Amino acid sequence: MDKGWSEKNKEMQTLLSKEATFKEGIEKLIAFRKEMFEQIRQIVMNYPVEAFDKMPFAGANGYHSKTLAYSIWHIFRIEDIVAHEMIAEDQQILFADGFSESIHSPIITTGNELSGEEIAEYSRKLDIRQLFLYAQKVMESTDQILLGLTYSDLKRKFGKEMASKLENTGCISEDEKAFWLIDYWCGKDVRGLIKMPFSRHWIMHIEAMRRIKNKLCQLARKGADPTAYCGLSCNHCFLGEWCGGCRTAYNVCSFATCSPDGICPNAVCCREKGIDGCYECDMIESCEKGFYIPTNDGANAAKAQALYIRKYGKKEFFGVQDRLHEKYDFSKTQEILGQDYKEGLRILEEN
Ligand code: SF4
Ligand code: SF4
Repeated sequence: MDKGWSEKNKEMQTLLSKEATFKEGIEKLIAFRKEMFEQIRQIVMNYPVEAFDKMPFAGANGYHSKTLAYSIWHIFRIEDIVAHEMIAEDQQILFADGFSESIHSPIITTGNELSGEEIAEYSRKLDIRQLFLYAQKVMESTDQILLGLTYSDLKRKFGKEMASKLENTGCISEDEKAFWLIDYWCGKDVRGLIKMPFSRHWIMHIEAMRRIKNKLCQLARKGADPTAYCGLSCNHCFLGEWCGGCRTAYNVCSFATCSPDGICPNAVCCREKGIDGCYECDMIESCEKGFYIPTNDGANAAKAQALYIRKYGKKEFFGVQDRLHEKYDFSKTQEILGQDYKEGLRILEEN
């Protein structure tokens, strides 16, 4: 488990266990959930739709053997059922807000009953944006329920009546891979449900999603040219675990994600000019487009690298990048190439 997340989880559980610190514990839990949800948001906003039904760890033993789409559905279906059927005893978000139609999910269950190729097939049917909106709504409504809890609510238990109510919802498959959930949840008090599924379940599945997206980025990089249009090296970029490279659909560089259609202005301009990269453009010295916008403190370092590629070619460029990373400890090239492209080029030539 992610060390930072594990510590936050432990701290929050300790605070919840005492009446004097209970409210602080709830606030920490909500802040922690917000932090974890941000990872889901980044994945949904930045990756192409086809990423969501891929199973790069198919057959592996663990949550990472699923797809990104399934993981989101599963986390929030479970939370929706537990938060609304059991704790608040009101209507689930899936039905109250019409998400059961808009997501296009052929099931209303938690998905535990699905396995192998069924998961990929199921994932291909989902509307990912709607799924994300559903997840967000479930998270927000659970947070409200959590804020309304008192310390004495933590001891509330659920008996046979709740078990048959859950059974009648049809939201838990009768398949043995899923049906055990009813006894599992009904065997817990509210405090137990806060641990699982409101915090630990998130941690495990979101960590699995991070492994899936890292692997997808790694696979996207295979065979793709790692030379960024602006002159950076995608093989040496600090965004490595998040980005598949700026010539792939898994591009998460901020200049791409903040631009219309998720395409970076440098990439658009190069394509319009029919050139491989800004290093082939004779306007590079004065250009202020995309990554070269003067307010970007990495603009001149990128230009220096583009000019190096122009002079010495890509092979030499990747060689100098390797040497720089061996010699210095840095994450962004401007930290060593500075703010002047001529000076940056000189530093590259010296290495
Ligand atoms: S600014 Fe554009 S060209 Fe440069 S790394 Fe980012 S996406 Fe690629
Ligand atoms: S004008 Fe600027 S963004 Fe366009 S190709 Fe030339 S250097 Fe790159």
